[in-house]
Amino acid sequence: MTLGQTVRTPVQLQGCAKTFPDGTRALEPLDLEIAGGETVVFLGPSGCGKTTTLRLVAGLEAPDPGGRVLFDGQEVTPLPIEKRQVGMVFQSYALFPNMDVAGNVGYGLRVRRLPEAERQNRVAAVLEMMAIGDLAHRRSDQLSGGQRQRVALARALAVQPRVLLLDEPLTALDAALRERLRVEIDGLLRRLGVTAIYVTHDQSEAMALGDRIVVMQQGRVAQVGPPRDIYFRPTNRFVAEFIGTMNLLRGSLRGGWLQLPGGRLQVSDGTPDAVEIEYLCRPEAVTVTSPGATTLSGRVASALFLGDRTRLVVEGVGQQPLVAEAPGRRAFRQGEEVGLQLDAQDLIRLPT
Ligand code: ATP
Repeated sequence: MTLGQTVRTPVQLQGCAKTFPDGTRALEPLDLEIAGGETVVFLGPSGCGKTTTLRLVAGLEAPDPGGRVLFDGQEVTPLPIEKRQVGMVFQSYALFPNMDVAGNVGYGLRVRRLPEAERQNRVAAVLEMMAIGDLAHRRSDQLSGGQRQRVALARALAVQPRVLLLDEPLTALDAALRERLRVEIDGLLRRLGVTAIYVTHDQSEAMALGDRIVVMQQGRVAQVGPPRDIYFRPTNRFVAEFIGTMNLLRGSLRGGWLQLPGGRLQVSDGTPDAVEIEYLCRPEAVTVTSPGATTLSGRVASALFLGDRTRLVVEGVGQQPLVAEAPGRRAFRQGEEVGLQLDAQDLIRLPT
């Protein structure tokens, strides 16, 4: 029993915009190339156009005139969803409640008139792959949330999709289950090598699953890149502030030193002197030391013990409080003076 060869279908979106009949401009013209076998995650706040983009790839929406969708170099823009051979998984499982698991998983194959024996083989293989073989004859309304989502994934994979489309598939699940299924989906996508587009507003899901992340803002692409680039090298303020916690350090720059209310920091990017300049840094890039040991210091405004680390809010460093992380073992008092150290390479300067 095998699931057959995975097809690694490259996907291209060319000038794909979307205006709904009521005039809502959900998507500005989007150009994107997705390599065969790549997992691309669309990430962004509610209403930014993630689902609309996914639906354009699926064939559930048509782009505005001039927009084109291509699978493996062939235009599929005029084709409806049933002709595109895509697998879809939604947040709401959308299973047929009166059918058993095997019936649900085999549904797409029956629609495609696959011979009975081959259908049964394919269903058994995909159920085994998703570790739900023992549930084959359970009705889908008798399953837990996690089991239902596994069935929904199995159903999407059974048709050997050219492209797998996942729209917030884990949002309805509790945190522990979400984490477990995220790991499973990650393993599955790597193993199968199927081209996948995954929509989420959850950053950690995006970081963990995406070969590349497309960060969207109000119908536009704010940045496209591998997760580490998005996190460590944001190219604009929206991405910098949307992903994780970011500190803002605003001061003047003189002779390679950034002058701040709490002291000074060396920078090494060759930026010329400036009366006012902004750098950004992540909390985990800040090392908390004893006062006087560094060129920068501040006062602890609050300390939140998180077990493996303590998250500090430090005042008096820049114009805004600075968030820093220290090892969990060390305790801090409110008002305590601390020294802060930051490597020049951890200072992020946004392109102007
Ligand atoms: P969420 O995370 O909340 O699902 P999203 O990023 O997926 O958001 P979309 O569902 O793509 O966002 O919606 C983008 C914009 O298009 C929103 O302003 C939304 O209200 C609008 N929109 C979506 N579908 C329609 C429709 N059928 N008619 C009119 N406007 C729509």
